[in-house]
Amino acid sequence: MQVPFLDLRLHHEPLMPELLEAFRQVTDTSAFAGGPFVSSFEREFALYCGTQHALGVGSGTDALWLSLQALGVGPGDEVITAPNTFMATAEAISLCGARPVFVDIDERTYTMDPAELEANITLRTQAIIPVHIFGQMADMDAILAIGRRHGTPVVEDACQAHGAEYKGRKAGSLGVAGCFSFYPGKNLGAFGEAGAVTTDDPELRTKVQMLRDHGQASKHLHSSISWNARMDGIQGAVLSVKLRRLAVANAARRTNARLYDELLADEPRVIRPALVPHNVHAYHIYAVRVQDRDQVLQRMAAGGVKCAIHYPVPIHLQLAYSFLGLGPGSFPVAERCAQEFLSLPMYPELRPEQIRFVVETLKESLRN
Ligand SMILES: *Cc1c(COP(=O)(O)O)cnc(C)c1O
Repeated sequence: MQVPFLDLRLHHEPLMPELLEAFRQVTDTSAFAGGPFVSSFEREFALYCGTQHALGVGSGTDALWLSLQALGVGPGDEVITAPNTFMATAEAISLCGARPVFVDIDERTYTMDPAELEANITLRTQAIIPVHIFGQMADMDAILAIGRRHGTPVVEDACQAHGAEYKGRKAGSLGVAGCFSFYPGKNLGAFGEAGAVTTDDPELRTKVQMLRDHGQASKHLHSSISWNARMDGIQGAVLSVKLRRLAVANAARRTNARLYDELLADEPRVIRPALVPHNVHAYHIYAVRVQDRDQVLQRMAAGGVKCAIHYPVPIHLQLAYSFLGLGPGSFPVAERCAQEFLSLPMYPELRPEQIRFVVETLKESLRN
């Protein structure tokens, strides 16, 4: 048996009639950049997340960058985030001219440790970006309370957490802004690059709307220098079709995660993702932790199971951030986890027999 890490074709095949109809509508109206299909998707996605507004942008990276720009983050400022994330979280901070400040993570949830956050807030801290890594939501009550105490806005990096919940509230609806990526492999994926900012704040909404479109306040009138970060019409149309399947697809991911959990329960050499009682995990990634991870990964591949690593090098150890002077040992939990993380195949269409095969192959790969 061969188990791929991800199979998007399987996900799209049953949607083809609807997707082709969506392409036809976009083509018929030539609504290619922004436009009505993006607006409809924005309304639907805001409703799904439980926010007043959602704004379609070019990517998750754009969503993060525009949210920080809209909050006025700039040179001399600091923004606190976690080191175990995708490069984009830190890049968005740097592209505003601000400095990323990393804090270590909780060893159970792999999300920002609120005690570390509190200890690293300074007068320069202009925003806090918890990352709902793998689809597990960060400890939002504690993080929001710290933000409130210091008057610092919290921006959620929800790029891996479409549909995840914290105490009954959806990712993207707790901070002042929620940032989403619709990169094809995410739980909700476009047919190319796309992203969104969710918010309840009318002022933030207006700012992001302007900033995503060359700082344009009204036609031909530009009140600031910004960039083109709009969403394609075709992506809006595709995302509307796929959003209707998201709840069912996420439920299938959770069913698959339960089976992985059950089959791995008797394996002491594997640390499974934590089940946090007040969280609904979106399982963008089902990451376990094992010793000798690289060897296990290779043996799995030889046995027909494609795994991945999210992420082998924490951001503070990337060459690009060497100027921060944060060497190995700066964030022991994040660094240890980065050496042990192994992402098993996880998607809604994964079949029980495939999951059994993945677990058998994993147990064999751990031996000797
Ligand atoms: C995917 C991702 C991003 C960036 O999104 P893009 O759409 O690829 O720009 C940012 N943060 C996290 C945690 C992500 O997983």
